Amino acid sequence: MRKKVIAGNWKMNMLPNEAIGFITELTPLVKSATHDVVLCVPYTDLFYALLTAQNTNIRIGAQNMSQYEKGAYTGEIAAPMLKSIGVSHVIIGHSERRQYFNETDEAVNEKVKSAFNHGLEPIVCVGETLEQREAGKVDEVITSQMQKALDGLTTEQVQKTILAYEPIWAIGTGKTASKEDANEAIKAIRNKIAEIYGQMTADSVIILYGGSVKSTNAKELFEMSDIDGGLVGGASLKVEEFSKIVNYDTQK
Ligand code: PEP
Repeated sequence: MRKKVIAGNWKMNMLPNEAIGFITELTPLVKSATHDVVLCVPYTDLFYALLTAQNTNIRIGAQNMSQYEKGAYTGEIAAPMLKSIGVSHVIIGHSERRQYFNETDEAVNEKVKSAFNHGLEPIVCVGETLEQREAGKVDEVITSQMQKALDGLTTEQVQKTILAYEPIWAIGTGKTASKEDANEAIKAIRNKIAEIYGQMTADSVIILYGGSVKSTNAKELFEMSDIDGGLVGGASLKVEEFSKIVNYDTQK
């Protein structure tokens, strides 16, 4: 059975003192969670977050990384740098990076490879725009993004990839995909993985849903057959709200 993963994406929020306070408060609230808890924080919070989360079940991720390993790339952060301080996960290909920073499918693919080469667990985002949804192109768009992101990986690496289906129209808008639509889209990704890499691999890949997840809709989403947890933006900035999402399975 696949484990569930609940990952927060703080985006460009939280100063180090806020990160320390947040994780200190969150720790007792999620200590009994049976699934993986990850917080993807800004680069400047990483070290503080890692120290505060030591000896807890909270793991710390980054929100982006360079596709290059080292060298003259001013302002970039490479996978070995993240790994060396104890970062475990990294979000790759978030729609905000694709949209505002021109991140291409090719760059996403190189970043995923570099993450694996350096022992980081990538959380790879795919998702359609509203126009693409209205044109009936959801499956085509998201399976193509997935294929390009995973191109050239070994089957074992594909099995270890965490994918996040994040419809762009649902990110930060308060609009959530219905649990049925989210599950269908994730099933389409899983079926394509089965076609390319085999059923065993498809059955083991963790695929999250992201897009306005809140404590009030987490349970119905995460209990769907193919949704293995969530990538949570806005609602991961409030300790109590995020802890309720993490503990969705204890809700009545
Ligand atoms: C995200 O940033 O990945 C996200 C899903 O944001 P939000 O939960 O705020 O929609």
